[in-house]
Amino acid sequence: MSADCLFCKIIAGEVPSTEVYSDDSVYAFRDINPQARVHVLVVPRAHHEDAEELATTDPVLLSEVLRAGAEVARVEGIDRSGFRFVFNTGDDACRTVFHAHLHVLGGEQLAGFGR
Ligand code: 5GP
Ligand code: ZN
Repeated sequence: MSADCLFCKIIAGEVPSTEVYSDDSVYAFRDINPQARVHVLVVPRAHHEDAEELATTDPVLLSEVLRAGAEVARVEGIDRSGFRFVFNTGDDACRTVFHAHLHVLGGEQLAGFGR
């Protein structure tokens, strides 16, 4: 756990959150400012700064995050209608929380890229 990390505090239960899915490797909870009808964040329980660092240092854990994201889509009932996985990394992507997290977005028609 990183002492100053918001998502480490959420995982530890020190900051409240609404759980969607949990297992030994990851924790998933609703985004506080949803950008779609379904907007869930999936975070590895171990602190990693961002998806790039996670991919480099623990790709198996990254695959666990993706597997849990698919499980979240199933639990939320959007696995058949479609959903989006997003990792924001760095300033140009407007990343704000420095603990790797997968956004799972869906439950409505999402804007296409350039369409
Ligand atoms: P980023 O922009 O870093 O990819 O995404 C961070 C996400 O965390 C944002 O979508 C933001 O709404 C969400 N977030 C920030 N603070 C909290 C919080 O205290 N609780 C929850 N559930 N989500 C948060
Ligand atoms: Zn953390």
